[in-house]
Amino acid sequence: MEQIECLIIGSGPAGYTAAIYAARADLKPVMYVGLQPGGQLTTTTEVDNFPGYPQGVDGNAMMEDLKNQAERFGTDVRWGMVSKADFASEPGGWHTLVIDETTTLQARTVIISTGATAKYLGLPSEEKFMGFGVSACAVCDGFFYKGQEVVIVGGGDTAAEEATYLSKLCPKVTMLVRKGELRASKAMQNRVLTTPNIEVRWYTETVELLGEKSVEGVKVRSLETGVEDVIPAAGFFVAIGHKPNTDIFKGQLTMDETGYLKTTPGTTTMNIPGVFAAGDVQDKVYRQAITAAGTGCMAALEAERYLSTLH
Ligand code: NDP
Repeated sequence: MEQIECLIIGSGPAGYTAAIYAARADLKPVMYVGLQPGGQLTTTTEVDNFPGYPQGVDGNAMMEDLKNQAERFGTDVRWGMVSKADFASEPGGWHTLVIDETTTLQARTVIISTGATAKYLGLPSEEKFMGFGVSACAVCDGFFYKGQEVVIVGGGDTAAEEATYLSKLCPKVTMLVRKGELRASKAMQNRVLTTPNIEVRWYTETVELLGEKSVEGVKVRSLETGVEDVIPAAGFFVAIGHKPNTDIFKGQLTMDETGYLKTTPGTTTMNIPGVFAAGDVQDKVYRQAITAAGTGCMAALEAERYLSTLH
C-alpha cells in the first residue's frame, strides 16, 4: 500500500498554499484535487483583493498559478476525491484514506482543505446568470457593481455583513428576507436597520432573475399577499449560508453543529494527531482566499513540526 508523509485533500488556496510549504520542506506532499479543482475561486471571474495582483487576476488563472507553483517544488497533484477516511488515534499512526472508492493509501499527516460550498436558491435563472450578476460573495464581487443598485437574499450574519459592505458601494441595497425577522446577531441587525440605503423587504421570496445577458432586475413575491413586483438591480447576491465539505469526516473529527471543523484555537490542529484543517472548511467568518492561504501555510508548518517529533 502506498504510504505518504503528507496528504492534502482539496485544491483551493488553502490546499495549494499548504502544498507549496510542505513541498519546500521536503514532505513530498500528494494532493487530491477533489470534485471542483481549484475550488470556489474558479467560479468567480476577476479576483481583485488578493495582494500582489495590482491589475486583478482571473480566478481560474490564479488557481493555475498556484498549482504550477506547488508542482514546481514537487507536489504530486492528482485527480480524484477522497471518499473515506479512517484516522489513527495514536500519535504517529498511519491514517487510512480511500480514493474514489477504489484505491486505499496511508498518510502520516493529512491536511484537510476541502472548503465549503455556497448554497444557492436553485432557480434556473440564477444558474443562467452565474458570474453575470449572480454572486455568493459580496466582498469578492461587490466592487463590480459600484454605483449600481443590487439585491441580496438572506437574513443571517453573512447577509447582514454583506448588505452593509454593499451599502458603501451601491446607492441602494434591497435585502430579501423570507421571515419577519433577521437571524443575524443584534449588532448586525442594528447596523442593517439603521443604514439608510438598505431596504429590508420582509416576508419576500425571489421568483426569478430578469435580464438579457446579465441581471437587470429581480422578480419577487410577497409571502403575505402573493403580490409580485420587479426590483431593478444589476447584481444579485445570495447569502443564505454555506455547507462545509466534511460529510466523510463525521463521527471522527470535531465539528460544530453545522459541520465546520473545529481546530484548536490559534492553530490548524484537529482532535486527532497528524490531522490539520485549513481554509473555509474550518472558517465560517472570514472565508477569503488570503485567509485560506494563511491557514494553509500554518497547516503545512504544523504538519512539518509534527513529523519532526516522530523521527
Ligand atoms: P445562516 O444559516 O446563519 O443564515 C442563513 C440565512 O439565509 C437565514 O436568514 C435564512 O432564513 C436564509 N435562507 C436560507 N435558505 C433560504 C432560502 N432558500 N431562501 C431565502 N432565504 C434563505 O448563514 P450565514 O452564512 O449567515 O451564517 C453562518 C454562520 O456563520 C452563523 O453561525 C453566523 O453567525 C456565522 N457568521 C459569523 C460572522 C461574524 O461573526 N462576523 C459573519 C458571517 C457568518 P431563515 O432565518 O428564515 O432560516
